[in-house]
Amino acid sequence: LDGVCAHLGRHMERRRAEELALSLAATQARLAANREEMVGMVSHELRNPLGAIRSYSETLLDDPHLSDEQRHLAEVIDRRSAHMQHLVDDLLDLARLEAGQLHIDPQPISAARLVREAVQAQQPAAAAKGLTLTMEVPRHLPVHADPVRLRQVLDNLVTNAVKYTPGGGTVAVTAHLTAGEEGDAVIEVADTGIGVPPDEYDRLFDRFFRASNAVRNGTKGTGLGLAITKAIVDAHGGSVSAAPVPAGGSVFAVTLPVAAD
Ligand code: ADP
Repeated sequence: LDGVCAHLGRHMERRRAEELALSLAATQARLAANREEMVGMVSHELRNPLGAIRSYSETLLDDPHLSDEQRHLAEVIDRRSAHMQHLVDDLLDLARLEAGQLHIDPQPISAARLVREAVQAQQPAAAAKGLTLTMEVPRHLPVHADPVRLRQVLDNLVTNAVKYTPGGGTVAVTAHLTAGEEGDAVIEVADTGIGVPPDEYDRLFDRFFRASNAVRNGTKGTGLGLAITKAIVDAHGGSVSAAPVPAGGSVFAVTLPVAAD
């Protein structure tokens, strides 16, 4: 009898475990479907109207007969809607990345041009703040990466470095190939900026996380850029890290697989 009871007990435990696994899978599928629905909803209900607002504000700004006040108001509409557009795009990217729906198409490319473009794009912002933005990158930096997404990663890191470095400071972008048969390409963005409190470095890549010193000094941000950066780099089989610079400031390093010749 004991044997039969033990057998029945095991049988029921297995049944229960199977039922639990099934209901867990159903819950996960429901969550994934909800997320997909949310992404679709956000893109249509927010993204499209924002696009319309921006194109109308640009049309308004083109009108040479605007009074100073009208121009000022149109500029505010344009700036604020551009900011919201950015935020919505970031939220969409993050949701898609987490749902495995963001299309990433890694191919053999030279990252040097992308680094150069990302640095050039930030030169005006750096100059306006009185920052020195330098670049030292080998002419050929063969990586296996999606050019659009890698540019997004570089834009995020260089923009942050410029944003979190006060006037008079320096932002230096460098790159090199590591030695060894299966070498990597490493791109580093170092700054002499406000840095990050030591115990907060490991949370920098969490979504919505903003370091306490950045919040305190009033720099605007969403805490989404680095989460997206990490998700993109991870999807390439690479890695991204942040560390303090001894002289003050921080350095962000992206490591990517080198493209085979
Ligand atoms: P955002 O800049 O919009 O807040 P990010 O996800 O790009 O969002 O960055 C997350 C946080 O990491 C920032 O809020 C800031 O606290 C910190 N951070 C990022 N880059 C730097 C940097 N170069 N120097 C100092 N802190 C930084």
